[in-house]
Amino acid sequence: MKKAAVLLMLTMAVAFAGCGSAPAEDAGQASDASDVSDIGEAEVDLDEEEDTAESTASAGDVLADGVLTVGTNAEFPPFEFVGDDGEPDGFDIALMKAIGDKLGVEVEVENMEFDSLVASIGSKIDAAIAGMTVTEERERMVDFSDSYYKAVQYVLVPKETEIASADDLAGKTIGAQLGTTGDYMIEDFEGATAKQYNKAVDAVNDLVSGRLDAVIVDKNPALVFAEKFSDEIQYMDFSFEPEDYAIALPKGNESLTAAVNGALEELKADGTFDDLVNQYIGN
Ligand code: GLN
Repeated sequence: MKKAAVLLMLTMAVAFAGCGSAPAEDAGQASDASDVSDIGEAEVDLDEEEDTAESTASAGDVLADGVLTVGTNAEFPPFEFVGDDGEPDGFDIALMKAIGDKLGVEVEVENMEFDSLVASIGSKIDAAIAGMTVTEERERMVDFSDSYYKAVQYVLVPKETEIASADDLAGKTIGAQLGTTGDYMIEDFEGATAKQYNKAVDAVNDLVSGRLDAVIVDKNPALVFAEKFSDEIQYMDFSFEPEDYAIALPKGNESLTAAVNGALEELKADGTFDDLVNQYIGN
């Protein structure tokens, strides 16, 4: 994917500078996270004229080396966690490996911080799978595969709590994993104080020890954490907006997205997808 990434950056750097003279070294330097996010925003304007700011890379460019490097944050059971052998495991990891089998490539998993996944696509990683919700903001920087799972945010609270509805979250101290949809929701609750953590489990530990009033986290991890700390905490479903999980892919690489969607469809048709749901999620 290296060539593709440089091409992508070069295309973007050229479009960005508004002329054809961006030297290759500068284009290479544009691969750090902050520059990528700048480019992502600029693209919104460029899109209106033509598609030149988008990647010209194809699925072949990304897959040619026989390896698909996929980023995740292995802190989100049952979708991803660190297995007994120290390697990332979980529904998402197994699904991505099955997709790799269909595409005839090996999947290499990079465990990184959730908050840096989107910006790393096209440079450090080829794709990301991390129980990642499709949001408009992320769609400015990456393309998403078809959705593979419906999710919703749950609220974890102490066993003893006065929180009985979403309105009761006003004025509370609420924890979430940094850069997640749960984190972004906290500002909706008037006077609430947001506390952000790199790992959801660290927020849960602070809830258990009384330093937080609530934690907002996706349903399935919430169920896992509520069970793990069942003496101290419980989960609540306040019927927040449903969310869609999808695989994040390089922006504009339509053939890669089509290939991944094709593989997903095959895995659904041949029963592999449901087997993985049963194996890892169980409902
Ligand atoms: N679904 C949430 C999001 O996309 C949380 C994902 C996660 O923490 N891995 O923001």
